Amino acid sequence: MLLTRAGYPDVTIFERGERVGGVWTHNTYPGAACDVPSHLYEFSFEPNPHWSRRYAPQAEIQQYIEAVARRHGVLERARTGTEVTSAQWDEERAKWQLQTSAGSFEADILVAACGQLSIPKAPTISGLDSFAGPVFHTAEWNHDVDLAGRHVAVIGTGCSAIQAVPAIQPIAAQIDVYQRSPGWTMPKMDFEYSKRARRLFERLPALQRLDRLATFVFMDIGAAAMTSQRWLLVPFRAAGRRQIRKAISDNDLRARVTPTDEIGCKRIMLTDEWYPTLERPNVELITDRIEHITPTGIESAEGTERRADVIVLATGFESHAFVAPMEVIGAGGRSLAEEWDPVARAYLGLSVPGFPNMFLLYGPNTNGGTGSVIYVIEAGVAHVIAALDALQRTNADRIEVRRERADAFDRELRAALAGTVWHTGCTSWYVDENGNDPSQWPWMWSTYRRRTQQLEPSAYELNRCVLERAPRS
Ligand code: NAP
Repeated sequence: MLLTRAGYPDVTIFERGERVGGVWTHNTYPGAACDVPSHLYEFSFEPNPHWSRRYAPQAEIQQYIEAVARRHGVLERARTGTEVTSAQWDEERAKWQLQTSAGSFEADILVAACGQLSIPKAPTISGLDSFAGPVFHTAEWNHDVDLAGRHVAVIGTGCSAIQAVPAIQPIAAQIDVYQRSPGWTMPKMDFEYSKRARRLFERLPALQRLDRLATFVFMDIGAAAMTSQRWLLVPFRAAGRRQIRKAISDNDLRARVTPTDEIGCKRIMLTDEWYPTLERPNVELITDRIEHITPTGIESAEGTERRADVIVLATGFESHAFVAPMEVIGAGGRSLAEEWDPVARAYLGLSVPGFPNMFLLYGPNTNGGTGSVIYVIEAGVAHVIAALDALQRTNADRIEVRRERADAFDRELRAALAGTVWHTGCTSWYVDENGNDPSQWPWMWSTYRRRTQQLEPSAYELNRCVLERAPRS
């Protein structure tokens, strides 16, 4: 829609799923909701005064995304149920040649907007395949499985688990939650918007914009706290400790849920329900290491086997795969996988040297511990539009980020990352086991927007590969 509005209406969207919506289409687990306030987790050009709650549930977000897509003619341009399997740069024609599950396609510009949390990650635990009951990942929730009266084992205690477990607790007979390491939480303070409040947002859009701004400023302070101003984490840590103290009376349980790593190192989880749920009589937190899965249960390293009828994998995503499994071949036949060995990197998270006319939205190092991914995507689109404008202005057909500029940006980024909370030692999906971080943006979100809005002419090389044919006489 932003591209059309900027004068580039010839856009084709390929979507592997049957519907647009990305993670919000796939993550339908009970309790799924956003942990970013809805007035920030929405498109700047489509404010929605009708959100039912401060933090909208999954179905409402999915509905919103589809409604916006419909209203702006995006659905007409979308080829859903079509997977792009490979993309190859054709230097002679200055075009991308795509192979899709529905045939080939040619494009002047390739924008990869594949997300970072789309491929579920199953744990490598011995015996998992031998389990006799249903096993499913939170992002592939099997709604046909009735949990009523069943013994459910949930592996993982990240953002997905802390939403799903409270939602299924009233249904299941018993829930065993397997925690490998605890994460910090903070009160979510979620609430329903009254009809009056929604009417007010509708009549006074400025009020909603003010709330959006206030939320953005708070989140940007959070970004500063995790990066350059770590002293700001003190009140966050205190709020996390207070939440545990208030909700849990048992000292042993308190100790087991209290993280020993720095707050923010893993994503801070916003919740009002997690600890009260762990106190319920039908919920048990298991912190013994999982040794093996049998056909009927889970065996801990201590040798105890606990019955399970259903296993829920809340074990996160293959977050460093970015565009995978799509194969991307750039100039000179070099693949993106080769370019990204050992770690994915991109200039401003958007462009990669050797891959002309290609941009990534929410690409490497554009995630944060706070903020809204929609904001990041909109900032990225503004950069793509600036690139298209530059191509048009200069009558060029090829734009590529200069390697020396991309390398200089990467050095600056890695130096800044070293001082952030994400690199203080914890396991998280941000950083791999070798310390490589293809995920995090080490500055404030306002900085991301400032740096991406314009196209620094010296950062890119623009030229014309295809010579225009002389008009026939
Ligand atoms: P996650 O944060 O990566 O959590 C995975 C959990 O599984 C962790 O507790 C991890 O333990 C555990 N785990 C992984 N492998 C294991 C194994 N082999 N044995 C035992 N435990 C294992 O995944 P997630 O909860 O799906 O969340 C991923 C991201 O999605 C979030 O950080 C967030 O960005 C996004 N998300 C957002 C929302 C929202 O409200 N907007 C909701 C859900 C998810 P360790 O911590 O010890 O590694």
